[in-house]
Amino acid sequence: MITNACDHSCPMCCNKLYNIDEIPVPTVKELKTVNTLCITGGEPFLIKEVANDIAIAIRVHYPNIKNIYVYTSGTALYEYLQAGCDIDGFDGITICPKNSNDWDNVLAMLHEYRNQFKELKSNRLYYFTNDKIGKEIIETHEFKGFKIIERYWDPVFKTPDDEIFRRLPIFYV
Ligand code: SF4
Repeated sequence: MITNACDHSCPMCCNKLYNIDEIPVPTVKELKTVNTLCITGGEPFLIKEVANDIAIAIRVHYPNIKNIYVYTSGTALYEYLQAGCDIDGFDGITICPKNSNDWDNVLAMLHEYRNQFKELKSNRLYYFTNDKIGKEIIETHEFKGFKIIERYWDPVFKTPDDEIFRRLPIFYV
């Protein structure tokens, strides 16, 4: 988790389920054991230009980390790309639109920046079970290079047994 800043205020936001101040910061020793890392927030792409640089720096300093992914609602990523920022530090993008504005922006973004997404190893597009707009868009559009995954809002925050949740201590509001 690189920031708790977000351009959304989802009623069931998982960031409301724990005390951010109590999430541990990763140690070097810990990072040296990691194979796959997902950068998340908040919304990582609100930290303009830095999100990609963080991924590149992690890759340089921790060659053991083979996969670096990033999680976004989509709108901030679209604005980030429009500002000329790169996503080439990532192995893949996971997009999880939260509302119709996100979906509109995701459709526009995947059309305008398709070549940049094509370069990445593994992209995912989530939609929520109760998201009628999202479901309809998934059924009526082709998302080449994206794995489509249906999700539901989990009222309980827990990480799987083989994952650890850590935060960077700097970009907090
Ligand atoms: S987009 Fe994610 S971090 Fe932001 S309010 Fe919604 S659930 Fe929370």
